[in-house]
Amino acid sequence: MSFKVQGWCPGALRPMASGDGLVVRVRPPSGRLTEMQASGIAEGAQRYGNGVIDLSGRANVQIRGVTAETHAPLIATLRKLDLIDADVAAETRRNIIVTPFADAKTYRLAEALQHALGDAPALPGKFGFILDCGAAPVMADVQADIRFERAVDGTLLVRAAGCDLGAPVPEDEAAEAALALAHWFTQAGGVIDGRGRMAQLIATGARPEGQLAPVIAPASAQSQAQSQARTQPVPGIVKQGALVAVAFGQIDADTLGALAALGPLRVTPWRMILIERLTWMPNLPGLITDPTDPLLRVHACTGAPGCLQAHGPTRDLARCLAPHLPEGKTLHVSGCAKGCAWPLPADLTLVATPSGLSVIRDGRASDTPETAAISPSEPRHISEFF
Ligand code: SF4
Repeated sequence: MSFKVQGWCPGALRPMASGDGLVVRVRPPSGRLTEMQASGIAEGAQRYGNGVIDLSGRANVQIRGVTAETHAPLIATLRKLDLIDADVAAETRRNIIVTPFADAKTYRLAEALQHALGDAPALPGKFGFILDCGAAPVMADVQADIRFERAVDGTLLVRAAGCDLGAPVPEDEAAEAALALAHWFTQAGGVIDGRGRMAQLIATGARPEGQLAPVIAPASAQSQAQSQARTQPVPGIVKQGALVAVAFGQIDADTLGALAALGPLRVTPWRMILIERLTWMPNLPGLITDPTDPLLRVHACTGAPGCLQAHGPTRDLARCLAPHLPEGKTLHVSGCAKGCAWPLPADLTLVATPSGLSVIRDGRASDTPETAAISPSEPRHISEFF
């Protein structure tokens, strides 16, 4: 393995050092930002960071280029906006992704879960929750340990990752059920040396029992069976507002500030932002609003020099290759085998290594390359890879 597994995620109170300074990760409560919160993040990124903001695959917002000196005043600014938890433990526990197409019931559950997590057992740093219980499932491909989903008839389910089935729960007892499942995870031996994931525990044959026993399939199982090629949402007008994307999840502070002026924002795990109640597509620098833009099918992590683990740059190459990507195909350019930008297989994955770019077809960045590494100074036309 040629990359370092941290076992924890950066937060706001515990930022991670990167090649362009500290990365301060803000977890918007329930995945939402008021106009004031979003414009405060944009101003904070300009004043205390380098003006570059990442939308992460965990529906978080990362302010880049923060220094040891500017971290404290940035946190003070964000705290006034109710974006900072009481301490690192609370920040780490609040690892919740909410569907951006949530209804009022789902937001009530998100708040109840956030509150209930104060009584959660000691969980691994990456242990997370997903509320994919809107009108239709949209986050089957997004990883989490405990999931809220709906059965075909609308029944709310709590499901342990790795189980095909979930347990039905009354809406007003759902947060406590998730907490009970988290306790079951720790008591069943899910945590070893502070690490562990629910799917790993389920793979050993362990199953929750009683009211948490898995008995009903989520609706996502049916839609998965019907469509092998699941697709993520694309930019456009939806019932809740306007959905816009940014290439590689990177947005500059000016554009975020301009979006904040249009309405409250919802962040997504697809490096898109939903502007609530907006009925037209904004035309701002850096936004992708065309649902057929090939950049939507290209993933690229920070790469060099922004990431200290990168063996080479990524995004310039990804931008060059995007227009040549055959229709329907996906491309992932990764600075190392960790594959932060896209944990799933892509049609073509190029991974920077000390000896050049390794090429993986139909796989993940961590898979064994099919061919010897190619030199980044001898670019080949992308059609050669298909
Ligand atoms: S995948 Fe990219 S961002 Fe992640 S550690 Fe490797 S180089 Fe850094």
